[in-house]
Amino acid sequence: MPPRKERTTGRRSPSTPLPRPDRERALRTVMELMAIDGPSTREGRVIAYLMDHLRRAGYRKKDMELDRTPEKSPLGGETGGLILTLPGTRPGPRRLLMAHVDTVPLCVGARPVIRGGYVVSADRHTALGADDRAGAAVLLLTALALKEHRLPHPPLTFYWPVQEEVGLFGARYVSLSQLGRPKLAFNWDGGDPAKLTIGATGAYRLEIEVRGRASHAGGAPEQGVSATAIAALAIADLHRGGWHGLIEKNGQLGTSNVGVIQGGQATNVVTDRVLVRAEARSHDPRFRQQIVEQFRQAFQRAAQEVQSVDGHRGRVRFRQRLDYDSFVLDPKEPCVQAAEAAVRRSGGKPQHAVANGGLDANWLVAKGLPTVSLGCGQLHQHTTAERLRIRWFLQACQIALLLACGAEAEER
Ligand SMILES: [Zn+2]
Repeated sequence: MPPRKERTTGRRSPSTPLPRPDRERALRTVMELMAIDGPSTREGRVIAYLMDHLRRAGYRKKDMELDRTPEKSPLGGETGGLILTLPGTRPGPRRLLMAHVDTVPLCVGARPVIRGGYVVSADRHTALGADDRAGAAVLLLTALALKEHRLPHPPLTFYWPVQEEVGLFGARYVSLSQLGRPKLAFNWDGGDPAKLTIGATGAYRLEIEVRGRASHAGGAPEQGVSATAIAALAIADLHRGGWHGLIEKNGQLGTSNVGVIQGGQATNVVTDRVLVRAEARSHDPRFRQQIVEQFRQAFQRAAQEVQSVDGHRGRVRFRQRLDYDSFVLDPKEPCVQAAEAAVRRSGGKPQHAVANGGLDANWLVAKGLPTVSLGCGQLHQHTTAERLRIRWFLQACQIALLLACGAEAEER
């Protein structure tokens, strides 16, 4: 798609002070959003809520479109992520504001209530879904404020991706042209709004299939090759060598985890097949590859070690897939500088951080769009103790509005 022509018309003067977030409305919006069931691949009602509120605020249907996640994701899905593309009313490079709308399954049935300075789930068996409906609300409130107060802004794209929690699939498959080729990008997903995540780890997903040889475990165990024994030896080897869990070698850092072991049918049969699923993470791509290599070698050695009486050995099929690559942004990147200025203007002290998990930002950076991630009040994500810190959430709304207007560097 050719880049859209940007229109520039003066409305309010750029130095007009920005409106403060309306606390009542901000809380109502985020609580309504958190109360919608919408785990990954089933985000349809969340997207409908957002479109409905944007339409009622006066945004046109033709400025909204859905990305093609359901066609491209291995999981399918009932809806694509929502993209709202707006021409600028003042000049400047296009800015992208984004926040994922899916939640982890533990959030289904959440009933948000206010307790003190927090929003929590009334039901202690569910999480809350502040991850990342808080971010989704920050974006929606920003879009509504722009319209309502007729605030001047550079060209903007709002993007609410789906399927973040299950593999970053929304951000992975969206194209920069569908997002209007933005130059600066801001992703809300996290806790403290002053914490700017400028880098994140990368991860490999491993699938290791161990093939042994079945035999009667009572009658002729010596004629079998136990896939269970092979897998156990390999994992024990990795553990003893310091390659499982937290990995620290010569100043290099990484993690690995054997998360799934499946295999075996009965106790009276020597196990002929075990499937192991694992992951390896490190900020350093070479070290990450080295961890993967240690896994490969450990399983191959173990396969050599276990033999049947007539010399049969097991086999290992090793598959690795890059889940997402690591990145670290230059602190001089315009998006980082802008985010810092906005945090400062909101009364915060910006800090840089590097995340140990993957973010939608990983994929946008991989496509060539520097993306900084900011907090929006989430705490204890993915657990039943999840809560939203109201003060942080409101501060995030203020920061987002400054960034949307390109007003972060202006005098108060
Ligand atoms: Zn999240």
